[in-house]
Amino acid sequence: MSFASLGLSAPLLKAIEDLGYTQPYPIQSEAIPAILKGKDVTGIAKTGSGKTAGYVLPVLELLKNKKISRNRYIKALVLVPTRELAVQVGEVFQAFSRHLLRRVKSLAVFGGVSINPQMMQLSGVEVLVATPGRLLDLISSNAVHLSEVEVLVLDEADKMLNLGFQEEVNKVLALLPAKRQNILFSATKGEEVEAYLSDLLQDPFRIEIEEEAVVPDLIDQVAYQTPAERKGPLLRYLIQQENMEQVLVFTSSIRAADNVVGKLMKNGVAAAAFHGEKSQGGRTEALKQFKAGKIRVLVATDLASRGIDIKFLPFVINYELPRSPKDYVHRIGRTGRAEASGKAISLVTPEDEHHFRIIQKKMGKRVPMLPTDDINLQGY
Ligand code: AMP
Repeated sequence: MSFASLGLSAPLLKAIEDLGYTQPYPIQSEAIPAILKGKDVTGIAKTGSGKTAGYVLPVLELLKNKKISRNRYIKALVLVPTRELAVQVGEVFQAFSRHLLRRVKSLAVFGGVSINPQMMQLSGVEVLVATPGRLLDLISSNAVHLSEVEVLVLDEADKMLNLGFQEEVNKVLALLPAKRQNILFSATKGEEVEAYLSDLLQDPFRIEIEEEAVVPDLIDQVAYQTPAERKGPLLRYLIQQENMEQVLVFTSSIRAADNVVGKLMKNGVAAAAFHGEKSQGGRTEALKQFKAGKIRVLVATDLASRGIDIKFLPFVINYELPRSPKDYVHRIGRTGRAEASGKAISLVTPEDEHHFRIIQKKMGKRVPMLPTDDINLQGY
């Protein structure tokens, strides 16, 4: 299957080529033709499945020949739960529209930053990517109008509901024209999401990508047996020993994330935390610096990590194991994506060993366990 066979036109195919995508991911092969046909689409898909391009490409294809009739009357609305996702999706729209003859103007808006620049930038925008609260603020200031929206995308709908945005989303929905195309993606398949779907979508085309498909074989997995008190020095040893220039470290709590960052910094390793107690601005800045190579180690909790999308992450370390095997797969799936190989390392204490066996069983893969007694951690 090629991108060309999905019904996308030359300027979009050129942008796809620029990004180095050679073949559509399964979700893209299914979603793109359905969206192009004007169908409502619902998909269960996680970050990493390629869902973003799965809707961005056909939405651009549909809009590329339709100019907006009135300024600030957007044609497509993408609702997302977090600022990080808003920024990422906005970047994907920009990247794919670069060769279009008529550049479809897109913008990402979100709270936690000043509203005025966003109000000004909204002039001429056709595709708006927004978090619900900020969108409502912009609407009440008359900076944007929804009455001519033709396509609505709800991305990470489950998270939107979990984070308590339902009321705000409902307010937004009430302002949209009844006749429109709906596209809804969710990482999980809860009852709440299902109920929401059936209210919102008309005879949708359903896509579900098997969880297994997301566990890439390219990931080299290894575990180190260690007592809890040697984890800190062992982490620093591994970072030095394997010359890790960019590594995402997971902890199970915000407290632990802050501790790990503090110790790394004390030992001269540039690190930052990425979790729900950090301000939006702080998180975006940390991610930016990490992507730019100014910070070597980003220490994240599971919840916050959902918004992290980095094209190639060479190393992931589980400083603490996640409770659920699903989260384990999700964490390590952040390396070895997009056809590049990566390494996932887990630090396993004697108390964790039973749980780690369960994780391996659920994942259907054995992970080699290496002892660390002989490693001299003096000075780390
Ligand atoms: P997403 O699930 O949309 O966050 O995408 C996950 C990652 O996969 C992103 O880094 C994309 O740039 C990358 N990606 C998406 N589609 C493809 C593709 N067809 N080929 C290679 N990489 C892709």
